[in-house]
Amino acid sequence: MSQSVPVPIQQVDLNRARRDALALALHEHPLGRAPGLPPLAVLRSPGAALRNNTVEHPFRADSDVAYLTGFEEPETVLVVLADDDGARSILFVRPRDPEREIWDGRRAGPEGARDVYGVDEAYPLPELSRRLPELMRGRGVVFAHLGREPGWDRIVLDAMAATRAATRRAGRAPVAIADLGAVLHPMRQRKDANEVAALEAALRATAAGHLRAMRGVRPGLLESDLEAALGYEFRRAGARRHGYEPIVAGGENACILHYIENDAPLREGDLVLIDAGAEVALYTGDVTRTFPVGGRFSEAQRALYGVVLAANEAAIAAARPGQSLRSLDDIARRTLAEGLVRLGLLAGDPVDVATRKPVEGAPPGHPGRAPLDRFYMHSTGHWLGMDVHDVGPYHDGQDPLPFEPGMVITVEPGVYIAAHDETVPEAYRGIGIRIEDDVLITEHGNRVLSAAIPKSVETIEAIVGTEPLHPAVALDDTAA
Ligand code: MG
Ligand code: ZN
Repeated sequence: MSQSVPVPIQQVDLNRARRDALALALHEHPLGRAPGLPPLAVLRSPGAALRNNTVEHPFRADSDVAYLTGFEEPETVLVVLADDDGARSILFVRPRDPEREIWDGRRAGPEGARDVYGVDEAYPLPELSRRLPELMRGRGVVFAHLGREPGWDRIVLDAMAATRAATRRAGRAPVAIADLGAVLHPMRQRKDANEVAALEAALRATAAGHLRAMRGVRPGLLESDLEAALGYEFRRAGARRHGYEPIVAGGENACILHYIENDAPLREGDLVLIDAGAEVALYTGDVTRTFPVGGRFSEAQRALYGVVLAANEAAIAAARPGQSLRSLDDIARRTLAEGLVRLGLLAGDPVDVATRKPVEGAPPGHPGRAPLDRFYMHSTGHWLGMDVHDVGPYHDGQDPLPFEPGMVITVEPGVYIAAHDETVPEAYRGIGIRIEDDVLITEHGNRVLSAAIPKSVETIEAIVGTEPLHPAVALDDTAA
């Protein structure tokens, strides 16, 4: 029997139901319908990436493999045979190896993969090159992720070639490859109750980290002190890791959208922007808050913050089935434009300020440019789930994909004014503000999963700097 962490029975059933749903969706795909030649899907979790010399990057399971099996070990290949009566699933996993397991940790092995994770068959990974062509025999279409890693493309194509060579006369080799993501990722886009519970847990951990940073910030600390506080609370609240590299950006560093150095001093009079999310059970939060290092917003900071908060709240208020990331982006942009025109930072009719116009000579598909883009360079939201920028289409043909219950999005308007921008009054220069919430679309509206993390000016000013950043851990905390 395997020693790996047991998967709850309920999750085993759930994963099996997901594989059955995938099998059905593959059948319904126009390419998957070849009569007598049912389709097959093949996907993998890679090995850990080398960091330097003999050291590897921490491994994280491929989201698709984990979604379908709960199996989180590296070097795993999953084959789903889409038969008429559901999925038959085969896992190829690292074989048990007592010596390697002393160094690298426990392995389920094929037996554990079968017994604990509930797949139909499991084999040691070295048998893949022999068995995959056999599994492809009699299958019409192979669904796979291609074009990501040359090594994986090679494995899939070689297996197809071997199948063709072995079945030349019988003509029972696959005739096409199709994109697995187009079938699987819309499934991941609509979260079931289990996934919503995981996201709620991720947001509880995320809230604990953001609250500690907010309560503990004061001038003289470093950005890295706040980063440490985030990690401390995330782990204590059950997170395995950050869902992405956290951004802790004081002052004008907040205007660097992907700032991750997180090592500068935090100064009185500056704001600090934190964009960080905890990952629990492979689902991540993605939350941004911006607050004053010294506890009080300056007049200019308060004015700009109010504009961004109004955009955040207006977009969230509109989030419901039938709306889309595009329509929420329009609402946020309009609100930002109105605010920035009111403050005199942009001139003109707010609608014109927010509306993108075609750029002469731009390639087809270019979104165009608006005056607002000077201070707001990114879009207002994205899908959220196992991946911080979660999978799933953004469009249905030409149209933005309409929201459905179970979809989870971020809403994250911002304003970024470069420190050297001499066209704006000095009080506004070097201010970067983003307010990002995570929002579950429900039957009639939405639920803000990050609601526990304060964002009103009053609440922020009331709690910033009210506690030591790192609490002393009382000795009796460890008593049983
Ligand atoms: Mg974010
Ligand atoms: Zn985001």
